[in-house]
Amino acid sequence: MRSIGHFVGGKEIKGTSGRFADVFEPMTGEVQAHVALASKAEMREAILNAKAAQPAWAATNPQRRARIMMKFLELAQRDYDKLADRLAREHGKTVPDAKGDIQRGLEVVEFACGIPHLMKGEYTEGAGPGIDIYSMRQPLGVVAGITPFNFPAMIPMWKFAPAIACGNAFILKPSERDPGVPMMLAELMLEAGLPPGILNVVNGDKEAVDAILDDPDIRAVGFVGSSPIAQYIYERAAATGKRAQCFGGAKNHAIIMPDADMDQTVDALIGAGYGSAGERCMAISVAVPVGQATADRLMEKLIPRVENLKIGPSTDPTADYGPLVTRAALERVKGYVETGIAEGAKLAVDGRGFKMQGYENGFYMGGCLFDHVTPEMKIYKEEIFGPVLSVVRAKDYNEALRLPSEHEYGNGVAIFTRDGDAARDFAAKVEVGMVGINVPIPVPIAYYTFGGWKRSGFGDLNQHGPDSIRFYTKTKTVTSRWPSGVKDGAEFSIPTMN
Ligand code: NAD
Repeated sequence: MRSIGHFVGGKEIKGTSGRFADVFEPMTGEVQAHVALASKAEMREAILNAKAAQPAWAATNPQRRARIMMKFLELAQRDYDKLADRLAREHGKTVPDAKGDIQRGLEVVEFACGIPHLMKGEYTEGAGPGIDIYSMRQPLGVVAGITPFNFPAMIPMWKFAPAIACGNAFILKPSERDPGVPMMLAELMLEAGLPPGILNVVNGDKEAVDAILDDPDIRAVGFVGSSPIAQYIYERAAATGKRAQCFGGAKNHAIIMPDADMDQTVDALIGAGYGSAGERCMAISVAVPVGQATADRLMEKLIPRVENLKIGPSTDPTADYGPLVTRAALERVKGYVETGIAEGAKLAVDGRGFKMQGYENGFYMGGCLFDHVTPEMKIYKEEIFGPVLSVVRAKDYNEALRLPSEHEYGNGVAIFTRDGDAARDFAAKVEVGMVGINVPIPVPIAYYTFGGWKRSGFGDLNQHGPDSIRFYTKTKTVTSRWPSGVKDGAEFSIPTMN
């Protein structure tokens, strides 16, 4: 049985807490590894190690830091297949989808390669008599990332690449459900030339997370996961004066206007609703057709597509999606389907009975499709995080705009239409952080920022893009005066530029 420890000070070390968690292979349902769960003392040791290594890294010039990122990109290409295979086997998503997970992370590493330019400060000559003013960005010190199971490559890279490029040392606490790839990424960073102690992976559960939150040497915490935990982390990190950005769950709506290209829309809904078994924070989980006729046309095309989804083991590249991450996740999603039926929604496609031949113990579930879901229902209010799409019929555009705007989550939303006016109005007015126009999963590209609103994001500043540089640095502003002959004596009033 594979045993996964921690990656601290440039090497893998064994856990000493005596506590472990099972890592499953979702496609077979078997336990494939044990991962160590760090104690408070082990976390403290890793943080002290990082703290000792950080000043020399911060003093390394930004071009050299960028070159290590570039080398890492090369090594990740070399090991792409190995990474994707491990990812698919621990998470359950298919290998092509796992490659996408890695790629979206690498794109943020590419962004971080621009660090010499991104960290430049500002300069104003002659802001006053003999006065010049300039600002500089400096790293924070030791920072931490706490990441979810559903993107075990992408989200760790979204966190550590900008943080490290800025000159910080990083403690990554990945999900205990699929920790294998984060460990591999840390090894690759070391091979790329990153000094030991700058990127550390400390595996664990709540005990490790709390140790990060309470540690006086951690300056900032970036979290991604479910909303209750995001809020908890935000509040506890803030209580000890840390910077915190905590991204949470989602309920992403797709609005389908009467003039939408229905074939393209159905393709988009199928991919975004059921890809990765719906275990994406940007998955479409609610479709909102506008008007009765639109709803009927949508259902007519959608039902056979959901019935014919191809579910397969993670290693089958032709599968539309693979198993869910754990049996507990599978049971939770099935529980939501039962709740939906009890609440009076119409289950148009029922995938609960799906069995994968040859993989009977895997965590598989067929696609489910609900019609006539209403905003009062639990299956509408809560995040299901599985292959379940709910259709909420709206009578007009205004009702369709209100639904995502009034939902407590505000991560992503999409509108399908050929009408430029409607699309523009929607993008301007909807109360959601990321908007797609005929784009179902509007995850912004690496040099823009990613972040949801309302209960999908706690704290300030988004992930990747320019916000990530702001989040992982502090700004210092220097006002300098070289009077050369100007003598104006003691000044007792506040200096102004009058
Ligand atoms: P999760 O909240 O269960 O776990 C996330 C992290 O928090 C893990 O590292 C876990 O070990 C830790 N954690 C769990 N319980 C904890 C506790 N009680 N105290 C302290 N730490 C704890 O989330 P998950 O199931 O791994 O991931 C799925 C969730 O993440 C979904 O809600 C999804 O929408 C969300 N997500 C959001 C985004 C985004 O950018 N908004 C992106 C991906 C996933």
